This record gives sequence, structure tokens and C-alpha cells, in this order.
Amino acid sequence: MNIKIHSFKYKLAFSYLFIILVSFGLIAFFLDRKLENNSLQDIKTSLINQAYLVEAQIPKEALLQGNTPLMDSLVKSLSQKIKCRITVINKAGKVLADSEETINEVLKMENHSDRPEIKKALSDYTGEEIRYSKTLRIDMLYIALPIKSDREIIGVLRLALPLSDLKEMLFVIRRVVLYSLFFALGLAFILGAILTREIAKPINRMIYASNKFSKGDFSHKIHITSKDELGELASVLNKMAENLEDKIGEIEVKNQHLMAILESMVEGIVVVDKASRIISVNPTVEKIFNTSKNNLEGRVFLEAIRNNDLFGIINGVLKKGEFASRELNLMWPVQKIFQINASPVFEKGIISGCLLVIHDMTEIRKLETMRRDFVANVSHELKTPLTSIKGFIETLIEGAIDDKENNRHFLNIIQEHAQRLNQLVEDLLSLSHLESKDIALEKSIFNLHQLADNIISSFKVLSEKKNVEIKNEIPQEFLIRADKDRMEQVFTNLIDNAIKFNKEKGGVKVYGREEGKDMKIAIEDSGIGIPEKDIPRIFERFYRVDKARSRELGGTGLGLSIVKHIVELHGGNVGVESVEGLGSKFWFTLPMQ
Ligand code: ADP
Repeated sequence: MNIKIHSFKYKLAFSYLFIILVSFGLIAFFLDRKLENNSLQDIKTSLINQAYLVEAQIPKEALLQGNTPLMDSLVKSLSQKIKCRITVINKAGKVLADSEETINEVLKMENHSDRPEIKKALSDYTGEEIRYSKTLRIDMLYIALPIKSDREIIGVLRLALPLSDLKEMLFVIRRVVLYSLFFALGLAFILGAILTREIAKPINRMIYASNKFSKGDFSHKIHITSKDELGELASVLNKMAENLEDKIGEIEVKNQHLMAILESMVEGIVVVDKASRIISVNPTVEKIFNTSKNNLEGRVFLEAIRNNDLFGIINGVLKKGEFASRELNLMWPVQKIFQINASPVFEKGIISGCLLVIHDMTEIRKLETMRRDFVANVSHELKTPLTSIKGFIETLIEGAIDDKENNRHFLNIIQEHAQRLNQLVEDLLSLSHLESKDIALEKSIFNLHQLADNIISSFKVLSEKKNVEIKNEIPQEFLIRADKDRMEQVFTNLIDNAIKFNKEKGGVKVYGREEGKDMKIAIEDSGIGIPEKDIPRIFERFYRVDKARSRELGGTGLGLSIVKHIVELHGGNVGVESVEGLGSKFWFTLPMQ
């Protein structure tokens, strides 16, 4: 673990040390001052007292007479007793006796009248002075008293004491104080470290837990059982984490629902921010623009989807903050028609982006066109025979009924058109039935060769008339499982076409074989063939290569689409291979199951 010097623990420990250092230092300082002053005062008082006692013993006459030997012996003996230096000075400041000097040396001593303590004593005060003695190289305390005879100052008595004892005593005390300070500091450091560690422990736990919370792990719990503020803080943090976990859980569930909705939507959803940068898209958008989410999200709209019309709608919404709806014809990546609904997204009342809902209308529009075309086609197909029938009936009514030569011919034409109408309605009903979802196939197993034979026989008259030879090459024992009636319809339509669109003395071949899991059946003719450009549309309703010819041959243009429907209902496919002028091969497959 790396030491964080700014950590709460260290701050607390250093604060302790600082407080102890400052308070101890102050106490020591004032204590030291007080002690020094008191001790000095004590020494002074006792020295003054002693000075009074000594002064009383000094023989005044001897002083006045300048009897130095007497005074010398006196000061020396007294000095030994009271353990301090005694000096006797006369009124003029001349030293008469000194306990530390011999008589001869005393004579050489300089005049003391200028010494501050002596001056004071000569003025009838008690002189006090602390001075550094150059001779002894220590601080000395001097006390000087006036020596009086008949109330008159006749000299000065001075007592001197070296302060080295006091200094020594103070030094010892100071040393003890300093040691105590170090000891107290050490103790404070150890105790402080233990204490701060104990205080920091729950705080560290909370920091650890808060870190986990910030990373989204709310399952972590802070275990602090104390009833103090820290305990309370821990329980508040635990509660907060629990609430956050619940809230995030709720948001996640809602988010998942939203994602599921967005992903299953058939509409494309694009969300852009106010700088028209794509924030998110749903899978439908990927399909529409044939690209991946990664190529879209995070990029500016126009860079990702190069469509100015779409970008124009977004820009308008972002500027005006109003809903916009438009149908757009998109040429890229494929030609499609889209209904675009764009709504502004607000955040605290300010436009923060745009939500684009892209609805693919291509299929709907295609179906609408198909329906319109179908209605137009049906009307047109019905109109032609109806007009003819109406016309011939009118002709008959207007007198042709009595025209014995033509009336029968007219009636035959009416019958022919009525049959065409009937065929058309039958085919339409058949187609509409096949297209309805609830159609059920009645499947059975039957011999396909047999079925083809029966159909071919039914076309005997027509084929002979056209001189077309039909060969059934389906293997004799070819069994299939299908709706027999519907299969008859398929064969009838395809063989009918193969004869109708054949040439004189042409041929038709019907054959079948197994191909993987399917059976492939083909009706091949040596007829007129189909131009290449018409092949892709040949199975569409009412699509005919030559409308007039088809009509003439009694065709409705619905036969091949009926075939396609029936085959697809059986789970198979249809197709055609044809060369104009050479013939066609219509084939279909049926799964064998
Ligand atoms: P219909 O035969 O009633 O016109 P179909 O749907 O059966 O309608 O056929 C559509 C068109 O396909 C025909 O009008 C014809 O132009 C073309 N066609 C169908 N079968 C053949 C074929 N075997 N050979 C040439 N053209 C064909």
C-alpha cells in the first residue's frame, strides 16, 4: 500500500503532534521563565538577608579607620560560612576587603564607585546586579547594602554569588522537560497512529465501498456497527446504494423492453443529437441502408447516410423543433419509398436531438399499384366480350334475328364470348381461391404418368386439329403425393399452352425425373417460344406476349399465374426456358417429402 501523505490519517496524526509540540513548548517556555525568576528571586532574598547579617557584624570603627587586616580576616571567615564572596568598600568606592583576594591584591583593585550596585547602595538603596564576571567567566549576582554608622553611610557591603548553580539546576530541569517532550511526542505519535488508524478504518471502508458504488457494484455493503456519526453515515450510504441498485435495475428492465421493442420494429429508428450525429439505430435501419450499426453510430448523419432529403428533414426538425412527416423516394442503396416521421427530442425544454421513424412503404405502394392494375385489367378483360355480346344482341334485336343467313352466326359469336367470360370468371375465382390464406390442399398419392395421360387424351381434338404430337415420357410408375385436382389444373394449363402456342406439326413432350429431394416435371414444346424480354414477367397475372393472339386462342392470361400459385402451395418452384421461334420448356418441382 502506498503512503498517501495527504490522507486523513496522516493529517490527524500530524495535527496531534503539532498540538502537543506547541502546547508543550509553550508550557515549557513559561515554566522555565517562572522557575528561573522564582529561583533568582529566592537567591536574591536569601543573599540580601545574609548581607544584612554580615553588615551587622562589620566593625564600623575599623571601617572608618581603614583597618583592612581586621576586615580581611572577618570577610574571609564569614565568606566560608555563607559560601559567597564578600567585599567591603568604603564611601569613596575603594575596596577595603575581599573574601576572594589577598590584602595586597585588594590594594591593587580598581575603584568600585562606578559599579551600578555600589552606586545604588551609596544612595541608600539595596543594589542588585547580575553581571558576567570576566575573571570567573560566569554570571554573578551582586547584592550591595549601605553600611551605616549613626544613620550615615560609611561604606558598602557587597555579597556576590555565582549563578552557575542556578544555571546548572535550570539546565537539569530543561533537560528533563525536553526528555519529557520527546517522550510525550513519541507516545503521542504511537497513540495517535493507533487512534487515527481506528478512526480511519471505517472511513477507509467507506472509501472502498464508494469506489465500488462509483463502478456500478452496489451489492457491496459497508459493515460498520458503531452508533456514532460514522455508523450513521455508513448506513445512509448502504441505503443509498440499495436504492440506486433498485433504480438502476428498473431502468435496465425498461431499457431492455425498449431495446426489444426497437429491435423488433419493422420501422427503422434513428436517433440523432443536436449536432446531427447518429446516437443509435435499430437493426431495421441496418437492413434499409445495407450497412452495420458500427458504420452509423457516432458519425455525422450526412457522412453515414448520404441522403440530402433525409438530412433536410432532420435539419428542419432541429431548427424549428416541430414534428415533420414526408414520403421520400430513396434511390440509394436501393430504390424504395419511405414514409419519414421526424420528431424533435427535448431535454429540459431545449431541443437535444431528433427521432427519425422510417417506414418502408415500397411493398404497400407496389401492392396498391398491383391492385389498381388488376382492377383495370379485369375490367378491360370483361369489357371486350361484354361489348361484343351487347353489340350482337342489339344487332339481333334491331332485325338481324330474322336474317336467317346470319342470325345463327351472331348467336354463335355471343356464345363464344359468353364462354370466354365464363372462363375468365372461373380463372379469377380459381386464382382468388388460391391466393386466399385458408386454402387447404387435399393431398393423395397417385400415378403422375396416368394423370398426364388422361389430360393428354382430353386435348386429343385440339392436338389433332393443330397436328401437334404429344408424348408422355413420365416414367410409368412415377408416384407423387399432391392435390390431384390442382395437379390436373397445372397439367391442363401447361399442355393447353404448349398446344396453343405451337407450330403446325409441332411436338410436345411431357417428362419428369427425380432431382435431389424434388421431382422435376417439364412440358417442352417446339412452338413459337417466348421473347427473352418477356420471360421474367410471364408468370404475372394477365401478362401475355401477344394479347390479340392469346384472346383469339381463348386465353385469359391467368393460366400461368394459377400454375405458379398451385406449385408454390405444394412447396415447389416454377420456371421457363425458352428460345423465341424454337420452343419453350415450362418446368416445375415438387418436394418428395
Ligand atoms: P393465356 O394462355 O391464357 O394467354 P397464360 O398465363 O397461360 O395465359 O400464358 C401467358 C402468356 O405466356 C401467353 O399469352 C403466351 O404469350 C405465353 N405462353 C405461355 N405458354 C407458352 C408456350 N408454351 N409457348 C409460347 N408462349 C407461351
